[in-house]
Amino acid sequence: MAKKGDMLYAWTNDANIKEKAELGGAVTALWKYALESKTVDAVLAVTKGVDLYDAKPVIITDPKDLAKTAGSLHCGTLLMAKLIKKYFDGAENVKIGVTVKGCDMMGMYELAKRKQINLDNVIMIGVNCGGSVSPVSARKMIKEKFGVDPEKVHKEEIDKGQFIIEYEGGHKGISVDELEEAGFGRRTNCRRCKLKIPRQADLACGNWGVIGEKAGKATFVEVCSEKGANLVSGAVKAGVLATEAANPKGLEIRAKVEGAMLKLGDKWRKKNFEALGEGKDRLKKIMAETARCIKCYGCIDACPICYCVECTTKNPKYVAPGYLPVDFMFHLIRYAHIADSCVNCGQCEEVCPAEIPNALFMHSQQVELEKMFGHMPGVDMSLPLLAMVEEKEERARLNNTGSDMIYENVFSPVSKK
Ligand code: FAD
Ligand code: SF4
Ligand code: SF4
Ligand code: SF4
Ligand code: SF4
Repeated sequence: MAKKGDMLYAWTNDANIKEKAELGGAVTALWKYALESKTVDAVLAVTKGVDLYDAKPVIITDPKDLAKTAGSLHCGTLLMAKLIKKYFDGAENVKIGVTVKGCDMMGMYELAKRKQINLDNVIMIGVNCGGSVSPVSARKMIKEKFGVDPEKVHKEEIDKGQFIIEYEGGHKGISVDELEEAGFGRRTNCRRCKLKIPRQADLACGNWGVIGEKAGKATFVEVCSEKGANLVSGAVKAGVLATEAANPKGLEIRAKVEGAMLKLGDKWRKKNFEALGEGKDRLKKIMAETARCIKCYGCIDACPICYCVECTTKNPKYVAPGYLPVDFMFHLIRYAHIADSCVNCGQCEEVCPAEIPNALFMHSQQVELEKMFGHMPGVDMSLPLLAMVEEKEERARLNNTGSDMIYENVFSPVSKK
């Protein structure tokens, strides 16, 4: 019987899944068991679309169709959380299993705390994530840095710090550091990401720490909740999954790799945020860049935290309709509403037709707010800063005292730490 806290090597006994899986096929085998045992009604996972660079979300209800979701697509820039809110009524009346990267999982928590997703009806299998590459950049990188026609590539992977491609006639790997120095590689939000092992999901699966004869053949599974433990135990009992305790040396290696990835995330945060400058300089930069905005609302549609039926940015009192360049107020509204909860998923930047680094701007503010108030979004059900404030009382206090210390009553114990 598996239990919360277990660290396991796991692999599937299903030949079809084994053939297509990224590693041991544990994730897909667990979903197979979840569907067959009716633990979930449906699984939301990812499958290859028109080509390798097109990761497509897919809903599976028949376990026979699961094999097509096996394998990792590193050029997919999807976010799963909003799909559950949008197309499954937040899992209110359906039990859903979903494969999540760190950012997917963080989006799930942000929507759950706003009562837009019912986590009681969701099982999350997390996959460790070193980062993803945007499809356009991946094609350009393969052509220019690898000297290979992107159409001829049939497999890509990120392993031991290298981006590796297999193509008609050979395979080639280049270090991710080298690619990123040259302006390619992982998305910029992924470089700053520090949620590498999604322990707030029910299970956290990956390849880090799988060593010895199981290397490349088993999935490393960290059991993070009772729900996760039950799923593993059930799948083993049903004969679709086999497990053994992880090699202690493997555990050490996994911890070291995670530590190195976190340091790398810090390095990129420093680099990106310092380049933005501080105070008024930062504001000026943000205003200059956002002046290109064509108010297509793409960033709002894509953001897991934006779901309001009546968006304030559409209120003509705040943002004059029908004018370009758009009022800076459009962006100020987003910063005011989202910055405390931004999970740095990169979606708002990914979809922006004006190529405005929206995620960078929002993430830089989120990190400042986290330093000031100690609230980390996406990792639990704790409410965002503004939810802790009685607005009317706060306004009255500011009025009566002439103070400009907004929310002092609520946050002073934290901010004086
Ligand atoms: P499988 O049985 O093959 O199942 C894989 C699952 O992942 C399926 O449900 C599939 O639909 C889903 N999936 C595929 N692509 C995506 C995507 N883009 N977004 C969301 N879900 C997806 N592990 C590490 O230890 N270190 C890493 O640095 C690392 N980086 C990763 C980066 C990305 C973008 C992804 C998607 C995964 C990464 N992983 C990493 C996890 C690893 O590749 C395997 O997914 C994991 O070990 C499970 O292996 P498996 O054989 O059990 O999975
Ligand atoms: Fe992975 Fe983090 Fe990038 Fe999400 S933001 S794809 S979890 S590296
Ligand atoms: Fe993701 Fe952008 Fe929303 Fe932040 S503001 S959560 S990066 S879409
Ligand atoms: Fe809601 Fe504000 Fe996002 Fe508009 S910008 S959808 S009002 S959170
Ligand atoms: Fe403006 Fe870009 Fe957002 Fe569209 S996606 S509204 S262009 S910032």
